[in-house]
Amino acid sequence: MSERVYIGLGSNLNHPERQLNDALQALAALPDTRLLMQSRFYASKPQGPQDQPDFMNAVCLLETDLSPVALLKALQQIEQSQGRIKKRHWGERLIDLDILLYGDQSIQTAELTVPHKEMATRDFVLLPLAEISPGRVIPGMGSVETLIAQLEQTFVVPWVALDSNQSA
Ligand code: AMP
Repeated sequence: MSERVYIGLGSNLNHPERQLNDALQALAALPDTRLLMQSRFYASKPQGPQDQPDFMNAVCLLETDLSPVALLKALQQIEQSQGRIKKRHWGERLIDLDILLYGDQSIQTAELTVPHKEMATRDFVLLPLAEISPGRVIPGMGSVETLIAQLEQTFVVPWVALDSNQSA
């Protein structure tokens, strides 16, 4: 049975826009999976060490027949193939892919926590999620809008690609 799954994407190295686009293409090409929606790209400040470039984030909606664990493995393969380097906790990365929501399921295993346990406080997840799924209720956490209202601050702005043909 297919499920609707929200994936969070983030990158802050080696042309983050390209990394997100490559990952979206790879997600769309997964077996038994369709890419239904994607948010705009958002620029955000790093949460951990500040001596690293800003992040670019997005959220997409997939419809997939893959099980949660099969999907996690597939995300890890995409991360590997894009050349993931994990230098430090909350540090810089080429591409990070998280399962935010898997249908309405709550999953607690050694390798997987769904809904993603930090999504309720991450502006760079909540804003793009609200864009493609307004009113979405996150099991056990509340609606995406309520969670956004509870954020103390937000450092996320929609990112607008500069048109290279445009002169100043
Ligand atoms: P990170 O590099 O911080 O994204 O953490 C990756 C680890 O988080 C992996 O070992 C996963 O098994 C684990 N993990 C737990 N829950 C999730 C989730 N919802 N989505 C992606 N990875 C998860």
